[in-house]
Amino acid sequence: MTDTTPAFDDEFDVIVVGAGAAGLSAALSAVEETGGSARVAVLERSTKDIRGGNTRWSGAYLRLQNTTTPVPNLVEYAMSASKGYANRDYYDALVREVPEAFDWLHEQGVELKSLPTIFLTLSATRYQPVGGGVNIVEPLFARLEATSATVLYETSAESLITDDRGRIIGLRVRERTGQVRTLGAGAVVLACGGFQGNREMMSKYVGRNAYRVPPISRGGAHNRGDGLRMALEVGAATEGQFDLFHAEPKDPRSAVAEAVVMTYPYGILVNSAGERFLDEGAKTVDLTYETVARTILQQDDSIGYAVFDQQVKQIPGYEHAIGTDVEPYTADSVEELETLLGLPAGSLVRTVAEFNAASAGDVSFVWSKLDGLASRPAGQPVKSNWARPLTEGPFFAYPQICANVFTFGGVKTDLDAQVVTSDGHPIDGLFGAGEMTGLYYEAYAGSTSVMRSITFGRIAGRNAARLSLQNTTERAIA
Ligand SMILES: Cc1cc2nc3c(=O)[nH]c(=O)nc-3n(C[C@H](O)[C@H](O)[C@H](O)COP(=O)(O)OP(=O)(O)OC[C@H]3O[C@@H](n4cnc5c(N)ncnc54)[C@H](O)[C@@H]3O)c2cc1C
Repeated sequence: MTDTTPAFDDEFDVIVVGAGAAGLSAALSAVEETGGSARVAVLERSTKDIRGGNTRWSGAYLRLQNTTTPVPNLVEYAMSASKGYANRDYYDALVREVPEAFDWLHEQGVELKSLPTIFLTLSATRYQPVGGGVNIVEPLFARLEATSATVLYETSAESLITDDRGRIIGLRVRERTGQVRTLGAGAVVLACGGFQGNREMMSKYVGRNAYRVPPISRGGAHNRGDGLRMALEVGAATEGQFDLFHAEPKDPRSAVAEAVVMTYPYGILVNSAGERFLDEGAKTVDLTYETVARTILQQDDSIGYAVFDQQVKQIPGYEHAIGTDVEPYTADSVEELETLLGLPAGSLVRTVAEFNAASAGDVSFVWSKLDGLASRPAGQPVKSNWARPLTEGPFFAYPQICANVFTFGGVKTDLDAQVVTSDGHPIDGLFGAGEMTGLYYEAYAGSTSVMRSITFGRIAGRNAARLSLQNTTERAIA
């Protein structure tokens, strides 16, 4: 460090901010890269009992065709989901690096399987850790705790410290007690998630009614845009669509992380006026739920109701698609259900009657594929598939709101996971990975967030360790 280097309260070779999939992969990779010699610290805002960020609460589906290989055409799919705006080089690198990263993940004790998903109809295969994201987080923590790395819980990074040449040399952090400390670092990896837990930033970037969108998980509530703010303060460029986020519809009555009702393609969705407002069966469910959530947000009161009759329960495995742990509102007649939901008198009865009258198609209902059984009620949106009349009571409904899984806009990195300026220069000593790096535009390329967090977390950790040791050697020679 230069003569002007301030005295720090403590010093490390690599400091990783955030202990989710990206941060844990980075920290372990930094340790590994130096044969265990690097002094690595991980800062984590949360308490130890809920460690692991958004990742801990995630289903963590991975767009893989086996445990280490991305599905074919992942890059084309992701580019098309983003309407061509996404960084193709990033996706190319992802596809190239996933096999190594996922071999490594397996070595860390994370078991992946192809299991039944919350999606009864799917556009591509998925693998997931048995038990979800917590079973990525805990094995990685177990490995990390077996090294000399330090994990500082209930410690939030507040700002980056630079030297007079703009190189990152440390961080100012605030501990649980409120005390501020300075930590010196050869390199810093920002892996502290998006800004879904920060209402001010959500309003600033996403706009009107963004305050109505809660983070989908307790982990997400800790992701308050600190990584983005800190990186912007030192001149970072951005990437990804700042006015969008990955949206999922959820039952607001439930406290579980993924309180979804992914059976809605087999029923109807109505708003607080008791009216249908979109095509519930437009595509396979994994390709529609984000649009559904966003459209619910646009309704008056930002609430919807997924309404069913008993026929939905005949679909094999339909219970896998219900994540909420709260029972639905149930009634013997549509009229009674309308009253239970507090909808305007006659509204739901009319909507269902008109929908049913237009739904007597001669195409067979096939739950497992786009069956073409369509309904075109006058004055209502078309329902393109699975449009059976709702006739078999008792009828039941779940309320649905739009929740924020993670934000799309973030910091821009190069393929070495170094944070770059708007001129494309790497900011010396600063790396980024996971949600806090911007990637997505228009629509989320499903089941790629955990995959990229692990893969680029690993790249960031390795490169941060290399750079830190190189800087140390240079300083020793000087
Ligand atoms: C319910 C749910 C379902 C999901 N389903 C899927 C899925 O099926 N497939 C998929 O790919 N993705 C899914 N996701 C999204 C995915 O899990 C996350 O985007 C990904 O795991 C993010 O990893 P990360 O390491 O970047 O962030 P996180 O795991 O959120 O980790 C960031 C960490 O940084 C900490 N932090 C924040 N600010 C600071 C600070 N200033 N100082 C110190 N620490 C800080 C936070 O406490 C947090 O622990 C889902 C998410 C949820 C919640």
